[in-house]
Amino acid sequence: MYDPLVNNDIGCNATYPNSYWAQHVDTQPDTVTLQQDITTDVVVVGGGYTGLSCAYQLAQRFNREVTVLEANRAGWGCSGRNAGFVLRGTGRLSLAQLSQKFGLDIARVFHQEYSDAITQVRQMIAEGNINCDAQTPGYLKVAHKASLAADFPAQVEFLQRQFGYKAEYLSAAEVKSDYMHNTQAHGAIRFADCFGVNPLALAQGYAAMAQRSGARLYSGSPVTKWQRNTDGGFVLQTPQARVHCKQLVFATNGYTPKGFYPPLNRACLPVLSSIIVTSPLSEQQLQQSGLHHNQIVMDTRALKYYYRKLPDNRILFGGRSAVYGKDAEKAVYPARLLSALKNCFPMLDDLRCDYHWSGWVAVSYDDLPRVCEAESGLFYAGGYCGSGLSFSTLAGVRLAELTMGLALPDLPIYQGTLAPFPLPAFRRLGQQGYYQWGRFKDRFL
Ligand SMILES: Cc1cc2nc3c(=O)[nH]c(=O)nc-3n(C[C@H](O)[C@H](O)[C@H](O)COP(=O)(O)OP(=O)(O)OC[C@H]3O[C@@H](n4cnc5c(N)ncnc54)[C@H](O)[C@@H]3O)c2cc1C
Repeated sequence: MYDPLVNNDIGCNATYPNSYWAQHVDTQPDTVTLQQDITTDVVVVGGGYTGLSCAYQLAQRFNREVTVLEANRAGWGCSGRNAGFVLRGTGRLSLAQLSQKFGLDIARVFHQEYSDAITQVRQMIAEGNINCDAQTPGYLKVAHKASLAADFPAQVEFLQRQFGYKAEYLSAAEVKSDYMHNTQAHGAIRFADCFGVNPLALAQGYAAMAQRSGARLYSGSPVTKWQRNTDGGFVLQTPQARVHCKQLVFATNGYTPKGFYPPLNRACLPVLSSIIVTSPLSEQQLQQSGLHHNQIVMDTRALKYYYRKLPDNRILFGGRSAVYGKDAEKAVYPARLLSALKNCFPMLDDLRCDYHWSGWVAVSYDDLPRVCEAESGLFYAGGYCGSGLSFSTLAGVRLAELTMGLALPDLPIYQGTLAPFPLPAFRRLGQQGYYQWGRFKDRFL
């Protein structure tokens, strides 16, 4: 599997991974490969949510001439592989941690931005009439230990008092009676506005919207080289053509090839996240597991598990995976996820794994993303730390606004670039160390 810390070449025109999502979309984006030299106002490199949302804004709202260059096809990266959780927030810091780090006033601006991100996804789905199987809202953050659940009522009270956000505390008994018989659920916080979608259908919907509004979208068109022109603009090379532009947006995030833009390469740690989708639950298994809802669920582990019941009664279950791309397809990783699922739901011992796939999330050094003008005329967004579905959609809006010279909300994520990792060559050693510590903490602490 392509590994952004190892490979300079992302490849070209690869098909979607054999995911559940790829089997459950009915259309393919109508795109072609760039075959002749062009000049355009703005180039967006990368056709995931960030790039497509940015292109849509540039064309629709600002009437700019914009070209998206995607190495493979729309949503081929994380955007077509994720779990489809439209979450409130991004990065790895909670509102309580943001309050501690930046003060309550800034945390409230974050809260508003996170609300706007969910609203933006909802608006895109409505405007584009995107059929992405949006589920009944509700996200359960589940305590995998009783000691962690003990703090949940105070967390809910904090969200209600300081942010006016109506989070709801659920005791272990309420989780069991109303949501699921997960033997490792000791209580939950329910967030009422988050929801599940088919993420690939969403990405393809964004692609169609960008195209309909006038953006040109080329698939099978990796940018293999780029440089600045003497006039301050840029020239980019794809396998078959050159593109000249005034402004350049990198929306390559966790899939940025090695050496593509060293300041961005040094500031992201691409981390594999893997998903399995099981065989469908029988009526009896639904009764036994109590899984009658389509709420999205994540637990409190350092190495988190996330899961949801899909519309056809299969379970999607995800978590951390191999460290290196070359190991991603090894059978041990889906087997571990299936076993973790069965530890939560011992009554589902008969389930088998029907699909398994992985993708690269971009982890940043300080656990927060950035949307920025890295140098004159060159913009990027990334570092969502695995929580980027809703925020990448808004990041596309913010990127487009930045290219227009508009002021963004007063937040640290819009001030400055991603911080480089110290000793970037040793990032994966650090990651392995973190995984060891995470396993220890989740088990014993
Ligand atoms: C298994 C998994 C589960 C996840 N689950 C969730 C979830 O449920 N909820 C959530 O909020 N987040 C989730 N995420 C994270 C979320 O999917 C990402 O944050 C989001 O999709 C990032 O979108 P993006 O557009 O920035 O990047 P991507 O979608 O990764 O797009 C980058 C694109 O750039 C292209 N590219 C790279 N280099 C070049 C080049 N040189 N030339 C041309 N094109 C190039 C790639 O082909 C790729 O299509 C998950 C991620 C994974 C992997």
